[in-house]
Amino acid sequence: MRTRVWAEVSLEAIALNFRLLTARYGDVAAVVKANAYGHGLVPVARACVAAGAQRLCVATLDEGLSLRKAGITEAIYPLSALLPEEAEDCLRAHLTPFISSPAFFQAFATAAQGAPLPAPCFLVHDSGMGREGMDSETLAQLRASCPPQVEIVGVATHFASADEPELAPTIAQCAAFAEATRTWQGERSLSNSPGMLRVPGEGFPRAGAILYGIAPYPGALEQCPVVPAMTVKARLTLVKPLPAGATVGYGRTHTLERDSVIATVPAGYGDGWLRRLGNQGFVSVRGVRCPIVGRVSMDQCQIDVTDVPGVEVGETVTLIGEGITAEEVAQWAETTAHEPTTLLNSRVPRYYV
Ligand code: PLP
Repeated sequence: MRTRVWAEVSLEAIALNFRLLTARYGDVAAVVKANAYGHGLVPVARACVAAGAQRLCVATLDEGLSLRKAGITEAIYPLSALLPEEAEDCLRAHLTPFISSPAFFQAFATAAQGAPLPAPCFLVHDSGMGREGMDSETLAQLRASCPPQVEIVGVATHFASADEPELAPTIAQCAAFAEATRTWQGERSLSNSPGMLRVPGEGFPRAGAILYGIAPYPGALEQCPVVPAMTVKARLTLVKPLPAGATVGYGRTHTLERDSVIATVPAGYGDGWLRRLGNQGFVSVRGVRCPIVGRVSMDQCQIDVTDVPGVEVGETVTLIGEGITAEEVAQWAETTAHEPTTLLNSRVPRYYV
């Protein structure tokens, strides 16, 4: 029996999306970091591999180790900078790090001494993200001094604003990367979801949001018709009438203008349901969008169901789905489309449908 709040994840949708992306863009790496944007690290990684993925991107060492522990043998790329002391475990698990500093490169080379085969890695160029990556001189130095136990299989970079209307900075990043890596052979990887759609070019993209059917910028899905993979539902725990003039929730931020029926949705920021949705968002009840009234609290929020007659305790309502997209929820909360699914935590069980 499903109670409280839960997420239903369609692995079939993710596999379908992955196939669509590879049909259009060729070799694509599946980004499964942050619990696969909330969809479940191991089930999603397995679904992608079954759909043909040969490259999986994680952020942390632990995520990479979890995939290996689950028996996944494909290439795994930790994208975020790791600490030098993580190099040995990274190497032992045959992860292929995206290296952003000489310190980690050094630690990786030391850990690789005596390894039967050269240890593969990517070097990351900072073409304008100002986060991970190195400048072109450092890149060239590492390449020139690369010891035989390490194999630099490719170079990568990351876009800072490929999702924004102004494309010029992304094009400038492409040019800076091309210049910094002009004489490099081997693999290349530049794009995230918005980049792959808007500046398709060389190398394999790293697809995150788009893999889950989440539009990386408004209108993206018209160009690339992927399908959302997650719906979030909850069962109402309270339904009660409140008179005009009553206030709802912490801080008394909402005053009822008419006699109303207010229902309690057992989802709050303790579940990863965004607090910013208070007085901003909507929940679908029998297909009708009911406004979230008052603040979202830790374990619940309240919705005004006055316009839906006969709503009952135990009734299932939809937080994401039934026409409400993660992008829309993000807009209501004034955040990125990645957040609504990614922030859902372990208190929200995932069911694979
Ligand atoms: N590559 C890197 C280095 C990232 O940090 C991310 C996500 O944050 C991605 C790719 C995937 O981005 P998106 O979800 O926009 O596809």
